[in-house]
Amino acid sequence: MFNAASTRAEDLAPWPAGRITALGDAVHATPPTAGMGAGAAIRDAAGLLTHVSAAADGTATLTDAVDHFEAGMRRRGSEVLTPAMKTVRWILATDTTLGAAATTVSTPILAAAARLRH
Ligand SMILES: Cc1cc2nc3c(=O)[nH]c(=O)nc-3n(C[C@H](O)[C@H](O)[C@H](O)COP(=O)(O)OP(=O)(O)OC[C@H]3O[C@@H](n4cnc5c(N)ncnc54)[C@H](O)[C@@H]3O)c2cc1C
Repeated sequence: MFNAASTRAEDLAPWPAGRITALGDAVHATPPTAGMGAGAAIRDAAGLLTHVSAAADGTATLTDAVDHFEAGMRRRGSEVLTPAMKTVRWILATDTTLGAAATTVSTPILAAAARLRH
């Protein structure tokens, strides 16, 4: 079973911006089912660097920089968690006797339909 964060952006980092923040799996733990968690963590790091650089230039306060970073991080986290959790729900739904039977019947039909499309 996967432990994953909520897919809802507003549930991620539901705290006011301050001097401490989190990025990547530490705040939007992402199951591997979309293959996007590492990419989201890298994009978070780039976003944090961009916003903290603005604070270092004096064009923003550190709290504002973290606030802007966290807004983007919540959106990115939700964007990767949504497809990842969709696949997890499919896995859970088919991991039953009925789900396994439905998969056995439907897979050859779906494969034939896919072949017809190409
Ligand atoms: C089986 C599997 C397959 C995956 N496949 C993909 C894929 O194909 N594509 C993709 O984009 N993502 C994939 N992911 C997801 C991806 O691995 C994660 O989303 C990504 O590694 C998160 O990066 P992170 O830096 O946030 O966290 P992590 O990679 O978990 O890094 C956190 C680091 O902090 C260290 N740490 C923890 N506690 C402490 C402490 N107290 N003090 C010091 N250090 C500490 C840990 O040792 C670790 O090195 C996969 C995940 C799994 C499990």
